[in-house]
Amino acid sequence: MTTRTIDGTDTLAGALRGELVTPRDDRYDEVRKVWNGDIDRRPPLIARCAGAADVAAVVTFAAQRGLPIAVRGGGHSVAGHALCEDGVVVDLSLMRAVRVEPDRRVAHVQGGALWSDVDGRTQAHGLAVTGGIVSHTGVGGLTLGGGLGHLMRRCGLTADNLVEADLVTAEGRPVTVNASTDPELLWALRGGGGNFGVVVRFGFRLHQVGPTVLAGMVVHPLDAAPKVLAHYRDVVEEAPDALGTIVNLRLCPPVPAVPARLHGTPVLAMVVCWSGDVDDGMAQVGPLREFGRPVLDTLAPMRYVDLQHLVDATVVPGNHYYWRSADFDRLTDDVIDTVVGYASRITSPISAMPIYHLGGAVGRVPADGTAFGSRTAGHNVNMFAGWTPDDGDRDRHVAWVRDYSDAMARHATGRYVNFLSDEGADGVRDTYGADPWRRLVAVKRRLDPSNLFRYNFNIDPGRTEGAV
Ligand SMILES: Cc1cc2nc3c(=O)[nH]c(=O)nc-3n(C[C@H](O)[C@H](O)[C@H](O)COP(=O)(O)OP(=O)(O)OC[C@H]3O[C@@H](n4cnc5c(N)ncnc54)[C@H](O)[C@@H]3O)c2cc1C
Repeated sequence: MTTRTIDGTDTLAGALRGELVTPRDDRYDEVRKVWNGDIDRRPPLIARCAGAADVAAVVTFAAQRGLPIAVRGGGHSVAGHALCEDGVVVDLSLMRAVRVEPDRRVAHVQGGALWSDVDGRTQAHGLAVTGGIVSHTGVGGLTLGGGLGHLMRRCGLTADNLVEADLVTAEGRPVTVNASTDPELLWALRGGGGNFGVVVRFGFRLHQVGPTVLAGMVVHPLDAAPKVLAHYRDVVEEAPDALGTIVNLRLCPPVPAVPARLHGTPVLAMVVCWSGDVDDGMAQVGPLREFGRPVLDTLAPMRYVDLQHLVDATVVPGNHYYWRSADFDRLTDDVIDTVVGYASRITSPISAMPIYHLGGAVGRVPADGTAFGSRTAGHNVNMFAGWTPDDGDRDRHVAWVRDYSDAMARHATGRYVNFLSDEGADGVRDTYGADPWRRLVAVKRRLDPSNLFRYNFNIDPGRTEGAV
């Protein structure tokens, strides 16, 4: 058990509005928990910051002692990057305020907010920014890696809507980053992860959305998946930007959104969000719901905020998780064979493979417009294994993901940085590609030459070569 005391901790505690938590505190085990129960790390010091001044004080404290920093946003990094064992955790979970300027269509979001915080506040004005599809995911990590969601084909990635950020640098200095003050750093923040400092405020451009959208699920038995996926391919390749879809193949989870007769059965579920005019949407979603013989069709007008909670109960915090991902261009018959094959060999009722349909506004941003690396992909499949803490079969679940990922490699055009796992330093570099990597390293060297912020998919300032 870690009992190391960091010199000066008491003085730091007196300077903060927030609080410090150490291994000696009763609440330590609660505070160090992250979403992935497979991560069990014991940081010597967790600083629960209450504002930008706290963050600056903690970063300065760590920098003066040469201690690395892990930043905790929503704590959903599957790799466990919100925690470290040899440094200081800047925990932003007390910083979840959201302020909306409806006239300017801008939201100001504190660095530790969750998507439920943002969606609730913005939808009160009929506005939204593309967010993750699970309401308890953090805005911080998701935005800085890119941000896929139901609205992305119409509104762009979350990162595409990041117009400004207040950042605390590795020197403990507050800076405001936008297209005028530092365009290259803004470019890097849009996909380069938490490598450049602690974002204490995100400024997002908002779009008019809902509050009612046409959304829900169309579910088929897995046996029908090859035909349904081929049909789905033909429909979505021609779809307007307002149609967002995610296909998931898994064992049907025992959640209230689906009837008990389907629980545990192998299924293909299309999660649909039409965010344009609801009457127009009825015609647009027709081809998706009228094909074959769905065992469930819940497509109906619903509040966008409710859609944003639809799958929350299927990804329970504290279970153990492992994942990988692959971008690919088209759902060719070959890809469909691979996907359905691995769905039929899935090893756990908690595992799944959401396949996000990209394109639309995502694909119209130039490849060098942001650090996000998957601009031209048609789809991204997130292959994830989940299992309960008492399940002794970790290796089997992890092997399913790795084998699946290997099988997808021949179709893959890239990976999504936020769905990386243990691909290692080369894997991170390859995810960005040679030219973006060189730019990212240059920004990292300027902002954080000693790599204080290294608990992330790391842009190592010492790693010069860009060849991939
Ligand atoms: C259940 C679940 C659903 C998901 N759904 C989606 C989805 O729909 N779309 C999608 O694109 N991704 C999705 N993801 C992936 C998600 O984008 C990443 O897991 C992301 O890292 C989560 O961010 P976080 O702030 O919650 O995580 P954390 O673990 O807190 O942080 C992740 C990384 O970001 C850094 N970071 C976080 N906040 C800040 C900040 N304010 N300043 C600087 N650095 C920061 C951390 O240091 C760390 O390196 C999902 C993940 C989970 C577990």
